[in-house]
Amino acid sequence: MTKAPLSKSHGRKTISATMQPRDLMGETPQLKNAWRVKIVTLFPEAFPGVLGASLTGKALTEGLWQLDTIDLRPFGEGKHRNVDDTPSGGGAGMVLRADVVGKALETAQQGTPTDRAKWPVIYLSPRGKPMTQAMMQRFAKGDGMTLLCGRFEGVDERVIEEFDIEEVSLGDFVLTGGEIAAQALIDATVRLIPRVLGNQESTEDESFSDGLLEHPQYTRPAVWKGRTIPEMLLSGHHANISNWRQVMAERLTKKRRPDLWRAYCETRGRDPNEDREL
Ligand code: SAH
Repeated sequence: MTKAPLSKSHGRKTISATMQPRDLMGETPQLKNAWRVKIVTLFPEAFPGVLGASLTGKALTEGLWQLDTIDLRPFGEGKHRNVDDTPSGGGAGMVLRADVVGKALETAQQGTPTDRAKWPVIYLSPRGKPMTQAMMQRFAKGDGMTLLCGRFEGVDERVIEEFDIEEVSLGDFVLTGGEIAAQALIDATVRLIPRVLGNQESTEDESFSDGLLEHPQYTRPAVWKGRTIPEMLLSGHHANISNWRQVMAERLTKKRRPDLWRAYCETRGRDPNEDREL
């Protein structure tokens, strides 16, 4: 029986372009300049998942970023490779053991910068700081990151302290595991890496990049089910179109996200009650 490798790498496996097959055992080759993510998970088969599709998938095969999964199971204890145990103090569910998760994280950290600014270590958790665009911009500027996906009741608190882990949440709800949250985080970060999206401009004026939600978008046909496209957008007058989009973005943000709107006005010294004319 062949032993499954502890770490599995997705995407491009070779550094130089060659048709020669390479030895894929041993240490995963590091793609030069590629942003890299390492994921500690009980379900490595869940990756790359949706990240293997569309633009993130294309960028993965092109070697613009690299994904390595570290299977938690082989680090488990005993014949059954147990990774969890009952919570100290009693109560329902199971907790991922500090020693087991610790060994997996040590393996993941091999060859990565110790500076957390360059290489954050993140535990996906509902107790974490909710994900924001600013956070994704910070992650995209680093060399890469290590993600820890929890299961059951979560992980032993001592691991979080020992590895100086940052907790990040997908939102105020509880998932059964960290894998979906990890994929959301990776998607939002990878698309900010230069050359992943074809037109880099599209990340510059989308929702949150300037603190506002995006204006409504339209495309052909000009009339659909009796509904027309706002005339301004068909005028060809770029300055007026740009003004229309700005006003629409402001109105939408004010109505849907008063929290974002107040912050936006505050940084610009604007009156939050003012409504700009079209
Ligand atoms: N008992 C925990 C929830 C555990 S849910 C609590 O009440 O806080 C199991 C795992 O799913 C967690 O360890 C975490 O990795 C993941 N998870 C659940 N909800 C999440 C969220 N909103 N964001 C990110 N990860 C989440």
